[in-house]
Amino acid sequence: GVELVRVSKTFPSGAVGIADVSLSIEPGEFVTFLGPSGSGKTTTLNAIAGFVAPTSGAVIIDGRDVTRLAPNRRDLGMVFQNYALFPHMTVSENVAFGLHKRGFDRATVRSKVAEALEMVRLGEYGTRRPKELSGGQQQRVALARALVYRPPILLMDEPLGALDKQLRDQMQVEIARLHRDLGTTFLFVTHDQGEALALSDRIALFHDGGVVQVGPPQDIYERPRSRFAAEFLGEST
Ligand code: ATP
Repeated sequence: GVELVRVSKTFPSGAVGIADVSLSIEPGEFVTFLGPSGSGKTTTLNAIAGFVAPTSGAVIIDGRDVTRLAPNRRDLGMVFQNYALFPHMTVSENVAFGLHKRGFDRATVRSKVAEALEMVRLGEYGTRRPKELSGGQQQRVALARALVYRPPILLMDEPLGALDKQLRDQMQVEIARLHRDLGTTFLFVTHDQGEALALSDRIALFHDGGVVQVGPPQDIYERPRSRFAAEFLGEST
């Protein structure tokens, strides 16, 4: 699981990213960070990933204090909105990138890549180049690239943000299926309420650099605990 203990981040400019965020995420849970632009969702995810060093507080992953640990030592998978694939490489090469360096032999790399492409239903697409794929398929390659390491925790920052409505809906279903099948902990950032409702075990609602309410989607919607929550959730998406 992931534990945030009173994590704060003030940027050198003096801007407050987050203040006193505490959250406890169980292994295997799907937790969505939901909230308006600038409310601190990405800063929180980046603190978990290790891209943002907290000004104070602690980040605990599977019982280990990783607050001062580099991102590549944290055993996390990550998928972002701008999932840059290497255009000159095939789909398989994109997914395999980095595996060789980790010391896997060629046969192992091949089977890991095939397995990851199966997971995102792109088993037949290994030899294509990114530009020969749809936006949704490219996003699935980015997902495969994270899943190939079988990380226990997967961080996703607006991974569907660049897709049109129809592809988003399709990818939502795929992400829900992956979560069900893999038992991986999913931490998902979005400002799309429909996405949060469809996917989450729990939603952490952000406002002004803090978490104002955490709970299952139904709870949050039926029992908003603040005027902000009531008004934000009352807006249609
Ligand atoms: P969005 O949905 O627009 O991505 P968000 O909820 O993810 O927003 P954050 O990106 O976490 O919000 O930003 C929280 C606050 O911290 C904002 O006021 C933002 O301007 C500020 N902030 C974020 N990154 C930096 C930075 N590198 N330097 C200075 N201020 C920053």
